[in-house]
Amino acid sequence: MLKISDLTTHYGSSQALFGVDMEFQTGEIVTLLGRNGMGKTTTINSIIGIVPPSGGSIVFDGEELVGRESYKIANLGIGLVPEGRQIFPNLSLRENLVATASNHLNALDPWTLDKVYNFFPALKERETSMGNILSGGEQQMLAIGRALMTNPKLLILDEATEGLAPIIRQNIWSAINRIKDTGISILVVDKNLKDLLKIADQNFIMQRGKIVWQGSSSELKVDEKAREQYLGV
Ligand code: ATP
Repeated sequence: MLKISDLTTHYGSSQALFGVDMEFQTGEIVTLLGRNGMGKTTTINSIIGIVPPSGGSIVFDGEELVGRESYKIANLGIGLVPEGRQIFPNLSLRENLVATASNHLNALDPWTLDKVYNFFPALKERETSMGNILSGGEQQMLAIGRALMTNPKLLILDEATEGLAPIIRQNIWSAINRIKDTGISILVVDKNLKDLLKIADQNFIMQRGKIVWQGSSSELKVDEKAREQYLGV
């Protein structure tokens, strides 16, 4: 589904990605791990074209993404749940959801307002509340719901559980598992390794702008050396 080869990305004259290689299949939950500043967000932003790569290739569902504009990449079926949630503060919860709704790929059973509310019943109860008065957990569910309303084939979550209480985090992980069951592939950047290892099929670790380790969750669980060396846990 996604194949990244020799990806390089620069911010002006400063290079952030040094030949990233990553590949995963449809229907997987995949993590991108690494300490701060190693290039995780830059990789995500390169995939979706917010930070255009300077070299390499990203093939998604048979289409080359490098060189395409961000909105065209989104239309191919990639939904982003961005770091910091980026909820529209002066729109109601419902308006936040319908503002992004689309079904570019003509999905047979598309995500609709009702389907998102069925998935996250807590959102229905807060339908008319403005974005800026929602709790952190509600905002996170809304950010996921908003991305689902674009009917993605690949959902990317950047630090989706940052700043959330453990119980809310568990709700988010359980929602992510249920989203996987609908056939959507999921790429997750998060710091909560323990939680991630319970749900991830495959893991990639970055160090200084490159992938330095990849493997299944059971492999990462037993590879203490890699966890210590690359993640410090
Ligand atoms: P974090 O977990 O802290 O978000 P990260 O692994 O997502 O870290 P990135 O944010 O992708 O890392 O940063 C990778 C490198 O690119 C770092 O050296 C960072 O300083 C640099 N960088 C990130 N954003 C910019 C920017 N807008 N302008 C210049 N350099 C940047």
